[in-house]
Amino acid sequence: MRAAGMRRPSFGPITDSPAGRGERWFSRPQIIRVTFVWNVSQVTVATYVPGGTGHKGTVCLCLFVSNARPGRAAALPRAATLSRVRVILLRAPGYWLARTPLKGFPITRSVVLAPTTLAWITRLIACDTTSRNSNQELIDVIDAELRGQGLEPVLVPNSDGTKANLVVTIPAHDGSTTGGVMLAGHTDVVPVDGQSWSSDPFIAEVRENRLYGRGAADMKAFSGVILALLPEFLARPLAMPLHLAWTYDEEVGCHGAITLLADLAARGIRPDICVVGEPTSMRAVSAHKSSHLYRVSFTGLASHSSNTPNGVNAIEYAARAIAFIRSIADEHRVNGPFDASFEVPYTTINVGTISGGAAVNMVAERCDFEFEFRAIPGVSTAAIFSRIEDFLLGELRTAMRAEHATADVSFAPIGAVPALSAAGTGAALQLVHDLTGTSSEETVGYGTEGGLFQLAGIDTVVCGPGSIRQGHTANEYIDLAQISACEDFMRALARHLAHQH
Ligand SMILES: [Zn+2]
Repeated sequence: MRAAGMRRPSFGPITDSPAGRGERWFSRPQIIRVTFVWNVSQVTVATYVPGGTGHKGTVCLCLFVSNARPGRAAALPRAATLSRVRVILLRAPGYWLARTPLKGFPITRSVVLAPTTLAWITRLIACDTTSRNSNQELIDVIDAELRGQGLEPVLVPNSDGTKANLVVTIPAHDGSTTGGVMLAGHTDVVPVDGQSWSSDPFIAEVRENRLYGRGAADMKAFSGVILALLPEFLARPLAMPLHLAWTYDEEVGCHGAITLLADLAARGIRPDICVVGEPTSMRAVSAHKSSHLYRVSFTGLASHSSNTPNGVNAIEYAARAIAFIRSIADEHRVNGPFDASFEVPYTTINVGTISGGAAVNMVAERCDFEFEFRAIPGVSTAAIFSRIEDFLLGELRTAMRAEHATADVSFAPIGAVPALSAAGTGAALQLVHDLTGTSSEETVGYGTEGGLFQLAGIDTVVCGPGSIRQGHTANEYIDLAQISACEDFMRALARHLAHQH
């Protein structure tokens, strides 16, 4: 818990602002005084125009403000012969950004976000929901907000009660809770361990028209926009219900989505359409590969390395297993099957971790590795699995036991995400096209909960703000323009849900 992030923001009027929002041109030097009600108490922005003809449309101010730092003006141009000053103020609670079309400063379109969007995203990022932690703090924040709006969220805890999904249905005007649209997102984030961040990953910071923080792209911006625009969905009677679902443990195997679906089924709630808000740059993604994760554990027999025949080297057997797995990966790479719609158009297999051995002068008693494979839709994952299993539990185990009877290898699945198949989409894809005004249909290489929702009979597409390229990285960020695009999507969805008959 971080005090700064958890403080509930309140938004008062912004005083003495000459621009209000959007952009405004000034012909004379101006002092812009902006009062922040949340976190930042006051920031004064001074701009000046030395006169002269100068550059057309140049600007001498560049200010970035975050709630962590109360204002920082970039260096003014030295030869400032400016005829006028153009200041674009980006309105957001706790943040004003003045953008400048000055050479050397990137020009981005001005973005006016809903009053509470950045505050919501900031608040969600402040909850450290790294998958190894509980997500309860974040769930409580959302739960309180939904209850405050008169809704009745349902919590679906995990088996030991340390984490929970949250699902809420906004019924149609006739009270109906069947059918309708579900917006789904996961609450957890990947660790920041070992990453080099230039700001606190759990304190959202706006710099250069981007919001930085762990989960900014994957996928707390999506959740923050939903919460900020909730009033849009509640303002009008809905012709069909809207379901909002937040899950736990997506990043470690989509465990939450499985219990979420069980809960929905038990309560007879089955949305017609689901939009999973993973970062796709707000483009419709109708297909992704499946993902299957396994851990393989070798138990050999320790011995002094001067007497190798006395031991069974677990590392050496693991190496043989890895080489076999790689050979299967190579087969798929060379022979397919191929699906050209994917960036990597075939099934891939990757050994991601390995550990083993105790000392260089010992025969290694233990070795464990983890691998995953990502299969294109239509590829039999069972066939891949059984080939690896046959090799491990057949040939390798036999060879190990020939060396010593206690040697063994075990093989355990640690997670699986089914593929999302484009064949399954129809209405969901159409809806996203309608709401975004686009017609593209893409595939991605990463897995999402969408495959599980599709398996449960819900027409599912993936569409959310931000780029997956920024997900999981150090200095993860989301472009503010992406947040704005997500807001547009939510407003269009609210209109759609209200107008359907
Ligand atoms: Zn994600």
